[in-house]
Amino acid sequence: MKCPRCQHENPPTAKFCVECAAPFVQACARCGTAMPATAKFCPECAHPAGAAAGPATRTPRHLAERILGSRAAIEGELLLRQEQPAIADGAAPLR
Ligand SMILES: [Zn+2]
Ligand SMILES: [Zn+2]
Repeated sequence: MKCPRCQHENPPTAKFCVECAAPFVQACARCGTAMPATAKFCPECAHPAGAAAGPATRTPRHLAERILGSRAAIEGELLLRQEQPAIADGAAPLR
């Protein structure tokens, strides 16, 4: 992938430019989902990413790694939520 800042060609798995250290990941301002720095909208909630994009939006390396880690945590949370026990009390108490 090409660095959006310096146009240097980077490995597709790169999270930062090997030439100028520009981050290739950003976090959604609404839901915190990590997405490519070139993304225009959040892949999870469609929140526009361009609003936060700018020269000041430099994701520090440790923060980007935290974002990527928390994504796995969020996905695990969703799995737990799906397993909520359904309260189906069909038997009405008799008088
Ligand atoms: Zn670069
Ligand atoms: Zn989002």
